[in-house]
Amino acid sequence: MKIWTLQKKRVGDWMAALRAAGKEVLAPCEADGLLRFRPIDDPSAIAVRPGPCPFPFKEWLFPPHQVLFSYQFEGGKVNLREEEVLVNDQVGLFLRPCDAAAIKILDTVFLSDPPDGFYQLRRSHLTIVTLGCRQAVPSCFCPAVGLSPTSLEGSDLFLWEEDDRFLVYGVSEKGDRLVQVSPDLFEPGEGPEPDQLPSPLPFMERKEPLTNVGQKLQGLFESDLWQEVGRTCLGCGICAYLCPTCHCFDIVDESDAYSGIRCRNWDCCAFPLFTLHASGHNPRPDQPSRYRQRVLHKFAYFLQTFQQNMCVGCGRCSLFCPVGMDIYQIVLQLTGRCLV
Ligand code: SF4
Ligand code: SF4
Ligand code: SF4
Repeated sequence: MKIWTLQKKRVGDWMAALRAAGKEVLAPCEADGLLRFRPIDDPSAIAVRPGPCPFPFKEWLFPPHQVLFSYQFEGGKVNLREEEVLVNDQVGLFLRPCDAAAIKILDTVFLSDPPDGFYQLRRSHLTIVTLGCRQAVPSCFCPAVGLSPTSLEGSDLFLWEEDDRFLVYGVSEKGDRLVQVSPDLFEPGEGPEPDQLPSPLPFMERKEPLTNVGQKLQGLFESDLWQEVGRTCLGCGICAYLCPTCHCFDIVDESDAYSGIRCRNWDCCAFPLFTLHASGHNPRPDQPSRYRQRVLHKFAYFLQTFQQNMCVGCGRCSLFCPVGMDIYQIVLQLTGRCLV
């Protein structure tokens, strides 16, 4: 793996060079009073805090609302118009390792045969620059799902902060090409393997393995435990909307008498309407059965289909759930390792 160093004070020059090369740089910053990834020109606007940015990067690959096509009724005919999606080359800057790993999971879903063209287009234009974590926050549990604060999964370049500079690890050719945009800013460097970097891993408390719990969880499908763990869920959907790997959507038409659009909007298994049948029957009639779907999809069904968990341990769902549902503790409780 190639290693370079980049002086922190030159990050702005690098961003300017990337923009001059036609790339849009998306980094965590304050937008509408929230921390989220937005296109930025000014490096002083970058707001990197310990732990992942509250809003994950996924909205740039899988927008909350996306128009698929529009239509118009004209003289007894229906004219369809494909929506033109214009996508610049994008650089996702300062994602955390859990977020880069989450994009790999979204790739598994959206790029499996047949690929989702809307996602594929955006993804093909994206290069991911990850910042390793020198500090974790208490809600993080990436080690429990087989990742770490220095995991390279899904990254194209991996940065490690050292005093006034970054160590820059070239993980993919796409990443190397970002360095080549302004090679004079990068000095050849040396450093340990990423898993030998002084990360907070040894001090993280939430690392009881949540991998390979799928069979055990599925064996509990009829258990009363789901009532116990799921009854406080409000069905607000925050957990799925902030989750970097959740990918459910609904397709709806919005129209008047003359024209309309067909669009897809984020959806969530915590919502009662998610599984409501036209007959009025709902196979998941209450929040416990909906929360069971969340846990089983993440730790059992996805594992069965794609041989990996659908959780990267970012901890957002636990941190922002208004009633404190903590998926890490809940899976431990369900698998008999800890009672909350
Ligand atoms: S954020 Fe909490 S209350 Fe809201 S749907 Fe998720 S688990 Fe339920
Ligand atoms: S389930 Fe929770 S901890 Fe896991 S990836 Fe989603 S938001 Fe992060
Ligand atoms: S956990 Fe629920 S919202 Fe998330 S991907 Fe699975 S079914 Fe969809």
